[in-house]
Amino acid sequence: MISYSNNFDKIEKVRRGELSLRSNLEYFLKKIEAKKNLNAFNFIFNEDVLSIADSVESKIKSGSYGKLAGMVIAVKDVLAIKNKPLTCSSKILQEFRSIYTATVIQKLIDEDAIIIGKTNCDEFAMGSSNENSAFGNVLNPVDESRVPGGSSGGSAVAVAGGLCDASLGTDTGGSIRQPASFCGVFGLKPTYGRVSRFGLTAFASSFDSIGAFTNNVTDVAAILEVISGKDENDSTSSNKDVPAYSKEINNHFSPVVGIPKEYFSEGLSVEVKNAIENFIEQLKENNITVKEISLPNTEYTIAAYYILTTAEASSNLARYDGARYGYRSQDSSTLLQMYNNSRSEALGSEVKRRIMLGTYVLSSGYYDAYYRKAQKARRIIKNDFDEAFTQVDLILTPTSPTVAFKIGEKSSDPLEMYLSDIYTTSANLAGIPGINIPAAKDKDGLPIGIQLLSPQFAELNLLKFSYFIEKNLLNK
Ligand code: GLN
Repeated sequence: MISYSNNFDKIEKVRRGELSLRSNLEYFLKKIEAKKNLNAFNFIFNEDVLSIADSVESKIKSGSYGKLAGMVIAVKDVLAIKNKPLTCSSKILQEFRSIYTATVIQKLIDEDAIIIGKTNCDEFAMGSSNENSAFGNVLNPVDESRVPGGSSGGSAVAVAGGLCDASLGTDTGGSIRQPASFCGVFGLKPTYGRVSRFGLTAFASSFDSIGAFTNNVTDVAAILEVISGKDENDSTSSNKDVPAYSKEINNHFSPVVGIPKEYFSEGLSVEVKNAIENFIEQLKENNITVKEISLPNTEYTIAAYYILTTAEASSNLARYDGARYGYRSQDSSTLLQMYNNSRSEALGSEVKRRIMLGTYVLSSGYYDAYYRKAQKARRIIKNDFDEAFTQVDLILTPTSPTVAFKIGEKSSDPLEMYLSDIYTTSANLAGIPGINIPAAKDKDGLPIGIQLLSPQFAELNLLKFSYFIEKNLLNK
């Protein structure tokens, strides 16, 4: 296996005849097989990828090829690819195949990326540990007794375990950044609306965003450049220009970095806290201006997130009724019984809990007390960020309060599990982008991530600073 530092380097090596894309694919397929116990993939496209590799290789050699030529990408099994299974790791969709392709995936394919398979995740992207999947748990490659994080656990593991070059995940409340942190890779959640959601199975439509996991900043910039932009099929996608992220990341940018004091209080593990403080010291030594700031309404984040997303989910998941597609109960003498039994038998307990919570907060008499109040909280949390970004360019926080926890450690306590999203959900409430940087390790070698946040549509600043950190501060 010839190694390469990022996909531009890979293309160069293929062009010079030093690397064959077919053998690169064979290498990944073998490794996926050898690491089957990690359970990162729901489906592997072994039949398709070798011939695609051959045709991309000849394109590279002919000098006319796409921006992501030869990049081997796994995608979370909540994204549609025509004629392929789309299960959302749920029993209710176990036999379902997509009839069209998600815009993000089409864009990757159009730039000659190679889609190697679909990754495991929490059912309908609801979870923080990948323990809610009908396909079973995913193991963290750094320590297989621990969770990889969630909900995009399989996508994080596919990259961290060296099973592909990059992967797509989705982030409604941290599902890219938190698993990236637990597994020690880069994970970017773009601004809401930067990337089309067409072909993404909806969880909470006003929160969901699609982003990527990679081993380096250059690749994540290249992917963002390809998947961003207006899409007529998603009215919430933005028509703002898409910068040439991958070309511009090495341009100088010396940000003022804000540290929100509320993110360093109760619940943060001592080891993560120390690692972040060391990292902040390193920034200062590199002449980066660091400033304490306040996000005063942080305490409402988790409550607002879990009220609003469950409300949206209860509505989005109403379509899985056994009538139109997916699992249908055999025990269904009346229509109502068919709905009831299909949903009871085929949805997992976390998904049911969220549908019930969401239905409750939207129901008459409770709407004002919960849903409307949470919408107000969302606004003041967004205002906190707007105010903070008048003083600083970027905000730095821990990505998660702890390192990857043990499988089973939190699965019987939903509230404890929800609290592990404490630092990530605010970005989705505010619609701003965030990235996880694999910044440190604890004494047992478990990854510790830092999260950087920027104003909406300032991904270029996030990426420039991440690139600076990657080149100057990370001990590789
Ligand atoms: N862990 C969070 C949740 O369970 C985030 C999920 C996500 O971002 N998809 O809702």
